[in-house]
Amino acid sequence: MNKKYFISLSIAAALTIGSLPTLGTTANAHSSVEDLKKQQDDISSKKEEINGKINEKKSEINQNINKQQEIQSQIAEISTKLKDTEAKIAEKTKEIDETTAEINKLKEEIKVLKEKIEERNELLKERARAIQEKGGSANYLDVLLGADSFGDFINRVTAVNTIVSADKKIMDEQKRDQAELEKKQEEVEGKLADLESTKASLETLKKDLDSQKTQKAELFKQLEAQQASLEVEKKDLQNESDELSKMEHQLEGEIQAEQARLAELARQREIERKRQAEAEAAKRAAEQQQATTSSSGGSSESSAPAPSAPSAPVSAGAWTSPASGTITTNFGWDVLNGKKRFHYGTDIAARGSVPISAAADGYVIKSHYSSSYGNVVYITHSINGQTFTTVYAHMASSSVSTGQAVNKGDRIGYMGNTGYSFGQHLHFELHAGSWNASKSNAVNPRQYINF
Ligand SMILES: [Zn+2]
Repeated sequence: MNKKYFISLSIAAALTIGSLPTLGTTANAHSSVEDLKKQQDDISSKKEEINGKINEKKSEINQNINKQQEIQSQIAEISTKLKDTEAKIAEKTKEIDETTAEINKLKEEIKVLKEKIEERNELLKERARAIQEKGGSANYLDVLLGADSFGDFINRVTAVNTIVSADKKIMDEQKRDQAELEKKQEEVEGKLADLESTKASLETLKKDLDSQKTQKAELFKQLEAQQASLEVEKKDLQNESDELSKMEHQLEGEIQAEQARLAELARQREIERKRQAEAEAAKRAAEQQQATTSSSGGSSESSAPAPSAPSAPVSAGAWTSPASGTITTNFGWDVLNGKKRFHYGTDIAARGSVPISAAADGYVIKSHYSSSYGNVVYITHSINGQTFTTVYAHMASSSVSTGQAVNKGDRIGYMGNTGYSFGQHLHFELHAGSWNASKSNAVNPRQYINF
């Protein structure tokens, strides 16, 4: 049975069912899974890029918020310092007022003292005048020499002594008062100068703190504005990402639908084939009966046209081995380059030009190149009403295209070493159901196939 025969058969079958409206446009449908997959990959990478940008924005926003918090705590610190400085200025102002009052009081005292000194000067002058009047001379010696008798002399000496010591006392007091006054004035004026310079430096500090606070407040405002625009940018990116997710989802649905369509084709084809086989068997039985009754039996016909040259010996039954060679890795846990990993298929290795064949009848879902699988073909099958998917990876080349119907044993390409592969081999996967990225439907091919 050749391929063309089956395509026409399945199309006829499908057309009679009428539930497959896209069949008439198989030529377009052939490339659609690949196109859709490519679109999906483009969207995925665009989305990844955008999500990367979203993460960048998030970290920028976080940095911004951290800065805002830092600035706020700096402003709080400056405000505390300002309060402290203002309190100190108030204190110094009070001290200055007090000192000024003290100076004023001191000036009053100085004034009183000066008056006293003036009074004493007057007293001394008067005393000197009194002595002059008594002795006709300001000279104490004249007073003493003018004594009439020794008794008078003694009296005069006593009087002169008294006057002299009194004068001396007054003069000493005067000197002491003057010195004290000068000292006090100097002290208070020094204190006032200190207070005023302290107050001046406090006021400078306050001014500095005020300007710092203004600057920080300005910076804070800028950061807030920056945050707002970052949030907007992030939201735009998020919307874009959401939109891409929607598209991705939609495409995934389309891909699933296309795969389901091909799986349904495979199912219809299986039903049709069974019907044909039954019809043929019935026809043969009728012929045989006729031959036995007529007894002059013509030689019975060979059942079917010769199959196209198989790439590997084709087994009877639904399945056949996809390639001849040595099994190098089985399905299951395995170590590759020192790392433990789950191997989702069976590896068959052989040297030279090794043909790869379809493991069962079906439709090619995908035939493309991927960085991991290299040249890879996906085929959907229907075996006793159950959908299976086979994967043929690392091929040197593929000779089938998407949407193409294949028969068990048909050559689909040649063994190779493309993609993530280390030496020529076929990586063959069998999925009970459809293929998915997590390979959740993968089963051990040896459950179905004798390699
Ligand atoms: Zn493998």
